[in-house]
Amino acid sequence: MKVLVLGGAGYIGSHMVTYLQAQNIGVVVIDDLSTGFSDSVAGVPLYQGDFANQELLQQVFKEHQIDAVMHFAASSQVGESVLNPEKYYSNNLCKTQVLLNIMRQHQVINIVFSSTAAVYGSPEQALIDEQHPVTPINPYGRSKLAVEWMLQDYASAYGIKAVCLRYFNAAGAAIDASNGERHDPETHLIPLVLQALSGRRHGIKVFGTDYATPDGTCIRDYIHILDLAQAHLLALNWLLTQSSCTYRAFNLGNGAGFSVCQVIATAKEITGQQLNEEASARRMGDPAVLVASAEQAKQVLGWKPQYTQLQEIIAHAWAWEQKLAGL
Ligand code: UDP
Repeated sequence: MKVLVLGGAGYIGSHMVTYLQAQNIGVVVIDDLSTGFSDSVAGVPLYQGDFANQELLQQVFKEHQIDAVMHFAASSQVGESVLNPEKYYSNNLCKTQVLLNIMRQHQVINIVFSSTAAVYGSPEQALIDEQHPVTPINPYGRSKLAVEWMLQDYASAYGIKAVCLRYFNAAGAAIDASNGERHDPETHLIPLVLQALSGRRHGIKVFGTDYATPDGTCIRDYIHILDLAQAHLLALNWLLTQSSCTYRAFNLGNGAGFSVCQVIATAKEITGQQLNEEASARRMGDPAVLVASAEQAKQVLGWKPQYTQLQEIIAHAWAWEQKLAGL
């Protein structure tokens, strides 16, 4: 089996590539390296370019017998999407349509798509399952939901088989600290907190302390990057057993929410370091609470997350941060 990984040099994509290789599955990567790093996929066939570049896609599909596509290549910052929706609809929606059309030409029908908890908007219940209404409140979530709908329609009309994995908050790093989160600029809470704790950053701003949550800060469900990778391979294996015209969305999360303050406290405890924290205004587009029910992924795909504790997730991310900081 050979899998084309779009965005395979990025944070989630590169952990996926390593995971697939460990299972002896062939991998080809397309990444424009706008946010990814070639050294995170050293030794893997890497086509540097835009995944919606038609010539590039044609070349890759001609040169390799691709069985499935895993699509991680996207813009993913909620705040930026509010200020610059054009980028989000272009990168996330329009380019994915180009991809799907070329996949069809080459009779590649299996796709695992990186979706997001942001499709749910501001949730109406504590634990979000896939039956929860999808009412995204920011352009990032809307652009991802639009792709989900497109995949659903392409599945019915053209026989595409698609799984959408709605991630909650991806975090953590490879257990041997060989790979981890490396965004530039970094916007995600855990790496920012750890950078502040390692001395690479002055401090951390807490975006919003007046939410309707016990400590006033936003609550998120953090999921280990290796558990995400496991879920993708299970999703692909499940897709391969399905007949054509399959479409299904699954949540991926741990069913436990932690506030920004709790994340900071846990990170301080693990690292034993002090931190400058500053209460700041709310960030645009942030819902107060996002916590997943991932029962469907467990029951249907057989997903068994291994690193469910926030402490483990942060400890792995800290080992990676220490390496980056040269500690
Ligand atoms: N956050 C924060 N300070 C930061 C970065 C993030 O308070 O410097 C908050 C953010 O507002 C959200 C939570 O941390 O409530 C998680 O944000 P992140 O960007 O990591 O993930 P998202 O939930 O947006 O996917």
